[in-house]
Amino acid sequence: MLTRPTRGPGSRPADLARRMASDLVALVLSPLVLAPLILASGPAAAEEGHARLPIAQDHAAQAAADEQWFGWNDPAAQYVEPFRIFDHVYFVGMRYVSVYLIDTGDGLILIDALFDPHVERLVQNIRTLGFDPQDVRYVLITHGHFDHAGGARRLQELTGARIGMSGPDWDLVIDDPGDGRARFVPPARDLTLRDGDEIKLGRTVIHCLRTPGHTEGVASFTFDVHDGEATHTALVFGGVGQNFEGAERFEMYIDSVDRLLAMEEVAVSLPNHLGRNMLELGQGLTSREPGSPHPFVDAAGIQAWLHRLRAHAVDRLATDSTEAP
Ligand SMILES: [Zn+2]
Repeated sequence: MLTRPTRGPGSRPADLARRMASDLVALVLSPLVLAPLILASGPAAAEEGHARLPIAQDHAAQAAADEQWFGWNDPAAQYVEPFRIFDHVYFVGMRYVSVYLIDTGDGLILIDALFDPHVERLVQNIRTLGFDPQDVRYVLITHGHFDHAGGARRLQELTGARIGMSGPDWDLVIDDPGDGRARFVPPARDLTLRDGDEIKLGRTVIHCLRTPGHTEGVASFTFDVHDGEATHTALVFGGVGQNFEGAERFEMYIDSVDRLLAMEEVAVSLPNHLGRNMLELGQGLTSREPGSPHPFVDAAGIQAWLHRLRAHAVDRLATDSTEAP
């Protein structure tokens, strides 16, 4: 049965537009999108990694975000052909929100759930890749905002999968699904993800990290990805956008980024909002020469990206503290 929200995400499009555009801009998209922007400010800034994003680059990020977000409520406008990123890891999301599918060999894991009306396309994407949606065992939600959690109820009903989310974000989706802006029917409360939890299924172990800031319970995930003989540690940073307010939340966010910065083993970023360049690179994987470097492997780029997010948050913290009464 398809459940539908009583008041759809389109009911306040202006608010949503503002929120989502700022979500995408604040996160400065992905390390791969950042590469040309970093070069624009010179190699010294790229190496140093702490430099504040100049205004011109904010505009570039804004333009990229606007392009990415265009037609956010239209499955046709947001369509991305699903593709394989690593040996058992696939992209099954839409233009402005990612969903990753992991084939564990003993069932499937999804990271994030999109929202109505895109969730039907997500299910179709799983089929297009040759998998059966009934084999989804876990849907792990990065945070409780509608664009990541709104489709969880539908997936819960369709697949019987366990739905995992942090305690604070379960509270958020149960008490106020859609955060007052984009109502959805929440999933039945299920698995609470705690810091340090491991989800083990088949060949896969997903490590759960609590990285609050964007919401109070943002969950990030690390797991091994395979590229032939090579194995890399991948990170899904579950709450990148800085579209929130208050010193306490910014301090949380900075602590979360510091924690991720210390994880120097991370070589692959699979962000929950994608940049255009990343999609192009992903689609280009089909023509990759055997033995050539995998375009998603970029440990230095991830460190630079995290430093940039941190610098942005430190600026916001200073500004918000100054403006506070
Ligand atoms: Zn969010």
